[in-house]
Amino acid sequence: MQELDLIIVGAGPVGLYAAFYAGMRGLSVAIIESAQVPGGQPQNLYPEKLIYDIAGLPAVTGADLTKNLLEQLAQISHRLFLGESVQKIEKEEGIFSVTTDKSTRRAKGVLLTTGAGLLKPRKLGIDNEETLANEGKISYFITSLKEFEGKNVAVFGGGDSALDWSLMLEKVAKNVHLVHRRTAFRGHEITVDRVMSSNVQVHTPYTFSNLIENELELKKIKSEESLNFSIDKILVNYGFLTNQVTLAENLEVSRNGRVKADSMMQSNIEGLYVAGDASDYPGKMPLMSVGFGEAVHAINAMTKKLEFDHPLRGGHSSSIF
Ligand SMILES: Cc1cc2nc3c(=O)[nH]c(=O)nc-3n(C[C@H](O)[C@H](O)[C@H](O)COP(=O)(O)OP(=O)(O)OC[C@H]3O[C@@H](n4cnc5c(N)ncnc54)[C@H](O)[C@@H]3O)c2cc1C
Repeated sequence: MQELDLIIVGAGPVGLYAAFYAGMRGLSVAIIESAQVPGGQPQNLYPEKLIYDIAGLPAVTGADLTKNLLEQLAQISHRLFLGESVQKIEKEEGIFSVTTDKSTRRAKGVLLTTGAGLLKPRKLGIDNEETLANEGKISYFITSLKEFEGKNVAVFGGGDSALDWSLMLEKVAKNVHLVHRRTAFRGHEITVDRVMSSNVQVHTPYTFSNLIENELELKKIKSEESLNFSIDKILVNYGFLTNQVTLAENLEVSRNGRVKADSMMQSNIEGLYVAGDASDYPGKMPLMSVGFGEAVHAINAMTKKLEFDHPLRGGHSSSIF
């Protein structure tokens, strides 16, 4: 089997950009993604939210960012395998074998852009939760704000995500109730202030007690007091459990399960690089603009270190295309 120059594991924003950059430098590249759609967190967790800190894009939704990244990627030759979970990466005689639940592919270099791993939302923790989620009464993220138009919504959570979504829902929903089990929110002060001066009805310190038909009952923490109101939908924003599996034997990971990287984004295994949320080093910031830069570092380091049997392209992108 003819090996590729590079296999990228994970088609989140960083993996998609890394694939474009590698192709632009002249590497043969394949991306393997476990989900059925590329785009990672922005596409799956917050497709309609506006992102403001991507250079050159004043404001872009998660879905549009993915669309733009795919358009950029389409400029170079590549393979994108969706719906395949990478389970094992092995290195033998300088060549990596990347094994998924469907096949094994070989490459001279591997770049891990697995982000936070395979994401699973934290649940509310009630008995009939799965049934309510299947009926669309309980959601863990919003893929379309339209579903909440004119509805009475209860948002559970105390972090930035719960605060941000409450503010966005306020624009389309009939009523928004924000329920948090503590008195203080964990989010940015400025967002908390915006929520407090909005029409969002804040209930603290309360937690879920019961839901009968559309009648939601909240229980006050350490108290017998309760509160009832009518809701159509519940949004649970308790964060995500990550399933960050160690893909290669002896791969050094830090306590949070992220792969330790050196200053050129190489792991402790030569030829195995990491970028984006999957990487860790002193001062690491889990932001996309940082991840894009890490991908550039990794690809350029790789092109210097690994031996390829064909010429690569150097220079500025403005003189390549
Ligand atoms: C609500 C919210 C708002 C945010 N807002 C911003 C913002 O405004 N600005 C900003 O810069 N960042 C923001 N972030 C963070 C940003 O989304 C992440 O930093 C970014 O998604 C990281 O990109 P990534 O490609 O490294 O990983 P991810 O987006 O996590 O993508 C990783 C991909 O790898 C795949 N994968 C994982 N394991 C495997 C495997 N074994 N085999 C195959 N595929 C695998 C996953 O399915 C996923 O598609 C926000 C995050 C959230 C949750």
